[in-house]
Amino acid sequence: MKIQAIRGMQDLLPRQQAMFVHIADTVREVFASYGYEQVGLPVLESTGLFKRAVGEATDIVEKEMYTFEDRNGESLTLRPEGTAGCVRMALQHGLTYNQIQRLWYMGPMFRHERPQKGRYRQFEQIGAECFGMAGPDIDAELLFMTARIWQALGLQDDISLELNTLGNSASRQAFRDALVAYLQAYKDDLDEDSRRRLVSNPLRILDSKVEQTQALLVAGPVFQDYIDAESMDHFAQLRRLLDDQKVAYRVNPGIVRGLDYYNKTVFEWVTTSLGAQGTVCAGGRYDGLVEQIGGKPTPGIGFAMGLDRLSLMLEERFEARPAADIYIASMGDVARHQALLLAERIRDALPGVRVMVHCSEGKFKAQLKKADASLARVALVIGDEEVASDAIGVKQLRGDGQQASVRANDIIEHLQTLFS
Ligand code: ATP
Ligand code: MG
Repeated sequence: MKIQAIRGMQDLLPRQQAMFVHIADTVREVFASYGYEQVGLPVLESTGLFKRAVGEATDIVEKEMYTFEDRNGESLTLRPEGTAGCVRMALQHGLTYNQIQRLWYMGPMFRHERPQKGRYRQFEQIGAECFGMAGPDIDAELLFMTARIWQALGLQDDISLELNTLGNSASRQAFRDALVAYLQAYKDDLDEDSRRRLVSNPLRILDSKVEQTQALLVAGPVFQDYIDAESMDHFAQLRRLLDDQKVAYRVNPGIVRGLDYYNKTVFEWVTTSLGAQGTVCAGGRYDGLVEQIGGKPTPGIGFAMGLDRLSLMLEERFEARPAADIYIASMGDVARHQALLLAERIRDALPGVRVMVHCSEGKFKAQLKKADASLARVALVIGDEEVASDAIGVKQLRGDGQQASVRANDIIEHLQTLFS
């Protein structure tokens, strides 16, 4: 039997990996322009962290985590999301103590879900978390920043913002009670998942994709009616900032997010171009989370974007940079020796220029075919003749295919002109 990758765990071939790097580079630059600092977090955490932070009754903790016992019998979990670990880190190192923080991270997350396009069991996220800021200004800044990222990626016309407020925990509790009381009467008409959630996580029923369940909700209690005044004011201020910065959004009361820790502002950036996997970035405020994990009450807000989905959106328009700018072909032992040393001289003198040496036997014709396929602009050719005359053949691979013979001593200067 052939060994294959584990279901839902993708290999990223060079073009796809290049897209991920392009997205990460773009995001890194935008983050930097807002003063965010990058942190690195472990992929493994104790299972208890996610139970406590994400919530026992969430899909993630109920059925999606990769949990195992290590050799010491300790229960560990491959992180399904980044916020819990980031909060754990901030607490452990005292980063939230009388300080404000704007942090970001990237890396793989793991969830045992049903794999399909845009939904994998290992997927890549970039996340940001802010600590110590309670006002709507940081919520707005976070959304300005994400809008700027879509702009920088050229995706601004394909991604739109959906916004909601969940109020404080008392208003959430009051609405939850009203929702449960209302739905109890229609219990038998609910889909199976929603019936289960009626007990475990009723707010998630609002998220249901089942039509009949959505139809039942229409006549039910309205979340907005239960939101506390302070949260409504926070939401109004946030909306005013978004309006003034001309960041378009739709208020969508159906956005409740799957995790327990959110309050006040929640949002999703969505696209219609990826079918059912339409959310490319999601987040919200989590003012109770730091305390829930054992710290002093500290306001927080964050989001995570999925690189797998963003790269699917970029797929058709992405142009990878060629692997080589200069390809060196050579014939014979002496020439091959020279080729490798010449490549090093070029890399010394022309930083940033990509040099690929053929590094194996082969007729010149075959080598030049490889040079062409590498999309390099220039092939350098060293054969017997060039060795004898201390010269190097320079062949333009794009455009008119011009060829020249350049003295070995002048080759660096020649290339400097070509690539300046
Ligand atoms: P969904 O509703 O699509 O399951 P989610 O609410 O579970 O998403 P979050 O936990 O908020 O997702 O994660 C933030 C982002 O990470 C998502 O918007 C998505 O882009 C990406 N993401 C989440 N799960 C996956 C997955 N299994 N495969 C690929 N990307 C994912
Ligand atoms: Mg999910």
